[in-house]
Amino acid sequence: MPVSCKTVLASKVSASFREQMKKDIKERNICPKLVGFLANEDPAAIKYAEWTAKTCAETGVAFELRKVDKQDLEEKITEANDEKEVNGIMVYYPVFGGKQDLYLQSCVSTLKDVEGLCHKFVYNVYHNIRYMDETETMKCIIPCTPLACVKILEYIGVYNAVLPYGNRLYGRTITVVNRSEIVGRPLAAMLANDGARVYSVDVNGIQLFTRGSGIRLTAHKVEDIDAKVEDVVPQSDVVITGVPTPKYKMPTSLLKDGVIAINFSSSANFEDDIKSKASIFVPSVGKVTVAMLERNLLRLHDYQNDLLEQ
Ligand code: NAD
Repeated sequence: MPVSCKTVLASKVSASFREQMKKDIKERNICPKLVGFLANEDPAAIKYAEWTAKTCAETGVAFELRKVDKQDLEEKITEANDEKEVNGIMVYYPVFGGKQDLYLQSCVSTLKDVEGLCHKFVYNVYHNIRYMDETETMKCIIPCTPLACVKILEYIGVYNAVLPYGNRLYGRTITVVNRSEIVGRPLAAMLANDGARVYSVDVNGIQLFTRGSGIRLTAHKVEDIDAKVEDVVPQSDVVITGVPTPKYKMPTSLLKDGVIAINFSSSANFEDDIKSKASIFVPSVGKVTVAMLERNLLRLHDYQNDLLEQ
């Protein structure tokens, strides 16, 4: 039986963003600088750092990796906040894990926070605030992996361009399996802010994120619901997974025929036969995440220069 599923690779989605970045940087003769702090021995973080370096070199971004002791990290971030030539700062997490990492995320200056993880940017996502200023000239920085998922959904056509900006997911039902503060919760909030009905699944239960009946609310609301994965997944047009263990598998039998399946976990969260049920399968998002990181960097570079000129 022929398989009618299309696999969409992150490299394909990221290509146009990277080409545009490269062109912009060359034509404007600029060299935005990104500093990455590595304060752990985590192989995944080291790999991500190598990958950032390679991608930045290809697009014309100056990338400097600073390996530091985790006890010195806060001080080093503060120093980089004050360095004029540094346009963006990122940290390879986890460092301490838990609340101390959340604290460190807020130590990065808002105007250099390429990952979009400081309090102000995450607050703005949760409250559907799209600009940093009253005159709406400076768009907010969005956390990279949630933003990468949105760009993938746009590329695939899940966002309906006939509808007005801000409502383009109206009518879609999406399940997100992961509710971390870095990816799953902001992602569910962004998708609901854009009009979707979002089931947010984590180990403790399921929450429903929506803008209410007829998407009348200006920002999403959240309800705890008494439902199981078996109830919500079969209703979902899109299922996005991010469970950080190879043991977790989303049963193909639960998925709706023609589902769009996207995995952002470093482990394969869908079963091997996913293509027998999905219309579109995106096995990983990492390359789009790095493209969003660079896009955020260019945006912050421009904001910093605009503010200097004022
Ligand atoms: P995390 O540990 O902070 O969060 C994991 C989430 O998954 C939690 O909400 C947890 O409740 C949920 N979860 C765990 N087991 C579950 C289960 N059986 N059923 C339902 N939910 C379950 O991790 P994180 O930082 O969000 O990262 C998750 C994964 O995404 C990791 O594999 C990480 O490497 C990957 N990641 C990828 C990118 C990228 O760009 N590709 C970026 C960030 C994270």
